[in-house]
Amino acid sequence: MNVLVAGAGGFIGGHLVKRLLDEGGHYVRTVDIKPFSQWWQVHEADVNYEKMDLRHNIDCGCIVDRIDHVYNLAADMGGMGFIENNKADCMLSVLINTNLLQAAREAGVERYFYSSSACVYAADKQDSPDVTALKESDAYPAMPEDGYGWEKLFSERMCRHFMEDFGLECRVARFHNVYGPRGSWKDGREKAPAAICRKVAEVQHGLGEFINIWGDGEQVRSFMWIDDCIEGIRRIMDSDIRYPINLGSSESVSVNELIDMVEDAAGLRKPSHVHRRYDLSKPQGVRGRNSDNTLILKELGWEPTTSLREGLAKTYKWIEEQVEEASCKTSPAP
Ligand code: NAD
Repeated sequence: MNVLVAGAGGFIGGHLVKRLLDEGGHYVRTVDIKPFSQWWQVHEADVNYEKMDLRHNIDCGCIVDRIDHVYNLAADMGGMGFIENNKADCMLSVLINTNLLQAAREAGVERYFYSSSACVYAADKQDSPDVTALKESDAYPAMPEDGYGWEKLFSERMCRHFMEDFGLECRVARFHNVYGPRGSWKDGREKAPAAICRKVAEVQHGLGEFINIWGDGEQVRSFMWIDDCIEGIRRIMDSDIRYPINLGSSESVSVNELIDMVEDAAGLRKPSHVHRRYDLSKPQGVRGRNSDNTLILKELGWEPTTSLREGLAKTYKWIEEQVEEASCKTSPAP
């Protein structure tokens, strides 16, 4: 099987390439706009690397040549702070998916995976922390997250019509907040779990006295451990599921509960936990969101199962190492 992973320099793309190599039997081609020095993971064996801006269609033809399966994980995106302040850039990712779909169709690619998001769901179904988990049908009537969510919903639709009109088999998963090591933790694109791990680690290493929290901490989310995400991507790609499907954990917590868990992972003992400061001026996203996994359980007999506590312990360990390493680099020599 010849496989292309687009966005392979990113968090999920990097883990997916590792998984494909571990499975064996795949020739893996990878592409990302970033220089290799900034990829989260670069694997030694059996990978063909390309640096390319997939928004330019002139480049896309050669990248899918003789490829059987395409995984599109490339997008200009980040956490709430990034998507709130870069709506046009987020929407321009529509060019990546459009170009890749066109090129895949022309090259006779067999199957195409698109990474959508829970941000496609209508805002009025997420305005209470007393959450009703989101079913796939809740994406319509459409009122997704401005910018990023509209791009995802449109691109989902494009996949559907490439499948119906041109016979390109497309698989679409709506990821709900993915977390784990080897992803953004301090570049302005990090999501809540990584940001909180970093802030707690900074306090633990004497680099700060309190942690800043965006909003009142009562907003509710579910968070999916990266290995569950990769397992889900592989299962969905190999399945007959021809419509967008949730890929997320159904364990929902408030941001305050998430911070409690990170403090536990850091070994901080209550009541001497880290002092919290709430900043109500920062973007907080919807009030409550969780993944309804009825459909994925019915289709695959599987759903993400790693507990948040277990995944956070591993994530915290990796981010603490990064914080420690960065602080060593910036400390003046004795
Ligand atoms: P990421 O930012 O770590 O990875 C995306 C990669 O795409 C980056 O390496 C980036 O350089 C690359 N890219 C951006 N523009 C490009 C271009 N023009 N040409 C080529 N490459 C380009 O993000 P991630 O967390 O790995 O997310 C992967 C996919 O999953 C994205 O489509 C994202 O929208 C979706 N998603 C992620 C989450 C999450 O919680 N991480 C949640 C929902 C959906």
